[in-house]
Amino acid sequence: MKKSFLSVAFYGTIIFLNASVLFAQNKSDEIQVSLDLVNINNDRVAVTIVPPKFKTDETTFFMPKIIPGTYSEDDYGRYVENFKAFNTKGVELSVAKMDENSWVIKEAKSLAKITYLVNDTFDSESGTEFGKGDIFSPAGTNIAEGESFVINTHAFVGYFKDLNDLPYQLTITKPVALYGATAMIDGDKSDSVDVFTATRYAELVDNPIMYNKPNFTSFMVDDMEIILSVYSPKGIFKAEDLKPAMEKMMQAQKKFLGAVNSTKKYAILLYLSDYEKEDAKGYGALEHNTSTVVVFPEAMPAEQLEESMIDVVSHEFFHIVTPLSVHSKEIHFFDFTTPKMSKHLWMYEGITEYFANLFQVNQGLITEDDFYKRMAGKVTNSKQYDETMPFTKMSADVLQKQYKDAYLNVYEKGALIGMCLDIQLRENSDGERGILDLMQKLSKEYGITKPFADDELFDKIVSLTSPDIKTFLDTYVAGSTPLPYEDFFAKMGVFKTKIQIPGNVFLKGQAPYITVNPTTKEIIVLPGIELNGFMTSLGLQGGDIIKSINDTDYNLDNIYDMIIGSMSWQENDPITIKIKREEAEMELKGVVKIPMDEVDGFHATDDSAKALREAWLKG
Ligand SMILES: [Zn+2]
Repeated sequence: MKKSFLSVAFYGTIIFLNASVLFAQNKSDEIQVSLDLVNINNDRVAVTIVPPKFKTDETTFFMPKIIPGTYSEDDYGRYVENFKAFNTKGVELSVAKMDENSWVIKEAKSLAKITYLVNDTFDSESGTEFGKGDIFSPAGTNIAEGESFVINTHAFVGYFKDLNDLPYQLTITKPVALYGATAMIDGDKSDSVDVFTATRYAELVDNPIMYNKPNFTSFMVDDMEIILSVYSPKGIFKAEDLKPAMEKMMQAQKKFLGAVNSTKKYAILLYLSDYEKEDAKGYGALEHNTSTVVVFPEAMPAEQLEESMIDVVSHEFFHIVTPLSVHSKEIHFFDFTTPKMSKHLWMYEGITEYFANLFQVNQGLITEDDFYKRMAGKVTNSKQYDETMPFTKMSADVLQKQYKDAYLNVYEKGALIGMCLDIQLRENSDGERGILDLMQKLSKEYGITKPFADDELFDKIVSLTSPDIKTFLDTYVAGSTPLPYEDFFAKMGVFKTKIQIPGNVFLKGQAPYITVNPTTKEIIVLPGIELNGFMTSLGLQGGDIIKSINDTDYNLDNIYDMIIGSMSWQENDPITIKIKREEAEMELKGVVKIPMDEVDGFHATDDSAKALREAWLKG
């Protein structure tokens, strides 16, 4: 998955039951699931599951405790209500709820079907900011009658004990006006019914479906079809508008990857949320084998949405390499109820995040300096975490409290481990081979259907590379020695320096220049602090109340619009701010001056390492 850090600084009808109706028992060896998206009960969707005939006296039905890619225990059973089981005569069977996620059903031999209602997760996210206990929105669900349904199948459909390897048939009754975008191939289809099949539970829940009024497009990258579907509540964004950037990026990714990937259809499902309502607030994306669900605020400026989409979708798409084609047994035989974690998050998330940056410089989408800036940012961010925490230990124990909080370091230090390993491999092979070559070999060795044992991975990597790589892995990945980034950069003729990066007009780092009066909701320039050049050049003073900017009124309710809107301002754009200063209203006119922040960075020197560096970044 990839979390986005946009907001760091601020922040029916119940199924009609008629006891006289007889239910025939399912004679096939298939789990038949139906979802009713037409008759919505209080934001809840009715689910009916018809299992094959049971030979046991009782059975247990489970909703997932955890799903692949999130690395967090989310208890999807929390969102299930009115769980009922019926026999063939339509008589209710006795059911005992065992815990958050499981229900034991007695008299299983006569079980004909179960029914329950599913609540959505977007509406129940707490407060104005993505918080603890909330399900990361790209893994969550939305149920908005006649308008939008985010069907992350793992949150709607569960499995019976020992039957999760049976095929599933999913029948969705849907409003005629809504289109369901997914990477699954649909079978029987009509204007009001979609039917999908999956070979087993894990495959079903690997395939999200997003329903909304048609706003989708598709394009080909070699022989792979990509579908991009967008839900934009206020109709601001069209799939067609995002298509050129996505197409350019994915062409470049496919070119960078070469033979690794053989996916035929890939779906990008983008849900844009309205933060003024109870709606999704966990921005970012979650990967699946052949699709990704992305959540961003609709209030983002177009340019910034495009940039963020490039970052997160390229990350998710690179998961095709790992963990999707190169993964351990913990992932292959994923246990949705009692999860066991692999030691190798440095590879699944770290190398993926590194690739998402490397391919951009490799394919000319960003400059070398942009690439160093991004890596320098990761070095700075990684220092917020314990640099001596062994990455393999953190990964295996990521569900425990003391390691859970370090999870986000997989996108920082994890990516840097990938970079340093890449540099080491390039140095060892005179620039010939790097980490992409290693991942190609690993995916040939293992692949989608053949997992590795967690403990054998390092030895396998060494056998495909050279013995000193064992020292690297033991010291910096499994060991507690901090990575000496400067030493690795120096091998490529890249050295530490101070660089200037554009800052935000309302924030210095994570410290805001503005505050809010909770009673009046007014936005106030913080008094008693040194203001930045943007503010002083316009004549803003501490204590000024910001009433409007360029004729748009702002207060606490839409402060987020103001902040993210400001991120797309360019140097010297004309700007007019209406303020209130000591009861007097006044208008400040001028141009935007973007403040520059001086931070640690890296730059390349023109020296003998140039050929090696070219091989690393452009090879
Ligand atoms: Zn990821």
